[in-house]
Amino acid sequence: MKILVLNCGSSSLKYQLIDMEMERALAKGMVECIGIRGSRLVHEKEDAPKVVLEQDVPTYQEAVQMTIDALVDANHGAIKDIKEISAVGHRVVHGGENFAGAVVINQEVKKAIEECYVLAPLHNPANLVGINACEEILDVPQVAVFDTAFHQTMPEKAFMYALPYDIYNKHKLRRYGFHGTSHGYVAGRAAAVLGKDIKSLKLISCHLGNGASICAIENGQSIDTSMGLTPLEGLIMGTRVGDVDPAAITFIMKKEGLTAEQIEDMMNKSSGVFGISGLSSDFRHLIDASTEGDAKAKLAIDMYCYRIAKYIGAYAAALKGVDAIIFTAGVGENASIIRKEVCMYLGFLGVEIDDDKNSQRGVEVIISTTSAKTPVVVIPTNEELAIARETFALTRTCSH
Ligand code: AMP
Repeated sequence: MKILVLNCGSSSLKYQLIDMEMERALAKGMVECIGIRGSRLVHEKEDAPKVVLEQDVPTYQEAVQMTIDALVDANHGAIKDIKEISAVGHRVVHGGENFAGAVVINQEVKKAIEECYVLAPLHNPANLVGINACEEILDVPQVAVFDTAFHQTMPEKAFMYALPYDIYNKHKLRRYGFHGTSHGYVAGRAAAVLGKDIKSLKLISCHLGNGASICAIENGQSIDTSMGLTPLEGLIMGTRVGDVDPAAITFIMKKEGLTAEQIEDMMNKSSGVFGISGLSSDFRHLIDASTEGDAKAKLAIDMYCYRIAKYIGAYAAALKGVDAIIFTAGVGENASIIRKEVCMYLGFLGVEIDDDKNSQRGVEVIISTTSAKTPVVVIPTNEELAIARETFALTRTCSH
């Protein structure tokens, strides 16, 4: 059974075709700049060089068609016939309180995704446009896998904000959390690497990519996470501010004469390690600059690691203990210096890093010393495979 995984962003469509028998990606790619100038498809078949097709792509329907054409292409395609695709799994960012797991998409699900536009105005509309475009072209079941679903197990005391209760009643304003597919996937893999039953573990998972969040996981379930109503809360990120005194927002608006949109823009796009360093949101640049003596790059890295360590301490308390700490995503998987700096704070939890093991990249590896009380594990995340697995589980018995 082959499953197409789609991730439709505000002007892009990322895809992967996964063979579930071997759980292998047969092909992957991305249509960029949909509806704007410079649109193109970058396609990569397994064990073959990248193919770039520059072409106008005015709509998502054309982007989906282009993806299918690339997948069945005689030269660089991975399948012979569109009929080989058994189902489509869509990454959907916000499921609100409606979805605690993946679902087969029907009219009701689409309506619920639409109802969450207000909670994820940049992502959910694009996700739904992608679903509709797919329905036009492919006559197979489609599944929505929500970034928020994994965190629906959080107790009320963790997901409520201490605002007047009526605000929650009226607007469903609460902590939702994101990166759920990734946190769930790496928690499962970490348990396997440690040779333990996930139901017996207290885990803290650090997803450190362009966006970054941290999650406290007990018995395989999320009990707290650092992102909130939106992906802006919590850790310091590439360009996002993370936690900040809420009064600072109105202060800046008044002093700088900014509108709500302008302050949102500042907090999302020009803050984080980029805003502090004035240099880059990419940790490769920041680490190089810091090593060469750039004080602001060093400060950005120090602040970033300190915030992560503070959250780990808080979540160790929330979990009443911790059995393992996980690092994943672009920074978590690749930046040994960042892992080391975070772990320097965690000796009191029984964390001790083995420098040789910590120097490895791109593999599942325990990077703590054999004598450390609390293991630290690096797990490369694979959200596409996790989406494909959920899609497979929900559609394997369908008649298609
Ligand atoms: P992601 O959102 O998971 O794709 O992560 C992207 C981020 O990972 C980039 O912006 C970089 O900051 C970071 N990254 C990727 N490779 C490395 C590396 N070798 N060293 C440090 N950071 C890296």
